[in-house]
Amino acid sequence: VQTIGILTSGGDAPGMNAALRAVARTAWARGIDVKGIYRGYSGLLNDEIFDMQKEFTCDIISRGGTALFTARCEEFKQLEYQEKAAEILRSHNIDGLVVIGGDGSFRGAQKLSAQGINTVALPGTIDLDIACTEYTIGFDTAVNTAMQAIDKIRDSSTSHERCSIIEVMGRNAGYIALWCGIASGAEDILIPERFDGNRPKLENELIESILEKKALGKKHHLIINAEGVGHSYGMAKRIEQATGVETRASILGHMQRGGNPTAKDRVYASYMGALAVDLLCSGATNRVVGYRNGQYIDYDIEDALGMAKDVDQYEFEIAQILGR
Ligand code: ADP
Repeated sequence: VQTIGILTSGGDAPGMNAALRAVARTAWARGIDVKGIYRGYSGLLNDEIFDMQKEFTCDIISRGGTALFTARCEEFKQLEYQEKAAEILRSHNIDGLVVIGGDGSFRGAQKLSAQGINTVALPGTIDLDIACTEYTIGFDTAVNTAMQAIDKIRDSSTSHERCSIIEVMGRNAGYIALWCGIASGAEDILIPERFDGNRPKLENELIESILEKKALGKKHHLIINAEGVGHSYGMAKRIEQATGVETRASILGHMQRGGNPTAKDRVYASYMGALAVDLLCSGATNRVVGYRNGQYIDYDIEDALGMAKDVDQYEFEIAQILGR
């Protein structure tokens, strides 16, 4: 490999900067040139490509977001744009590409690999919704950010003896909600993986749970709701009507995507970035880096996208026991 390109794609996640910094610095240490590509596949198609210098990687490890910006690019799903992108990469002599993003971005990486560009992807998403890995860049920071916000809402919720429904991110995955639920001592945790779509049933269960815990003398009732279950405001209204307990909903929103990455996100992202470069050096392509059983590993992208994972049932049951 002579020149490695780097892009960040899809939703941003704290730790992406640590990853791209590690990619660049490892490449330089191996005698490889580095080019930055702005705005994901969209920037790639617009030829927003620059020679990355050392300064670009300075003072970014501690920052959230991504210094390369990120974008979604619908047209990149079409073959003609994938061919065009490969041509643009070749015109810059980029013979290795590192893509940092989620499942959608991996599909793009796979398509570029099919166009003859050696490509390695890194799992960057706060949602932890990538099946081949137990760790994704940004999850740890997002959980800590949400937990701190929940702690604050909890204080106020206790003072007013309220019920609080706090909605956290995660798209169709409940990992952020499960972790926040345990870490914040929530009474109830709602995750899409354990929701059958029957909202009246879910609300009746919550109403029962609130009345039961109120009778036990609990001063507040904290419900962590995952984005994939949603409808927090409507739920709050109906719960208040049914229980007579003042109930408020807060949707934490984009604050969960930002902020300085935790040590874990910085360190794991750094190792993953370095590994991506070393995989490219060994001639690998169409790979995605993951972390499993205490080790950094890599998979064929097709295999990785074909994997499935689910919230651990034991963990979910314990979370419920601890909230009682
Ligand atoms: P994430 O990478 O976080 O999952 P998206 O699903 O939005 O985010 O995907 C990011 C980008 O990856 C998309 O905007 C698109 O450019 C590219 N992408 C997604 N799916 C495909 C696909 N099937 N083929 C090619 N590119 C894709």
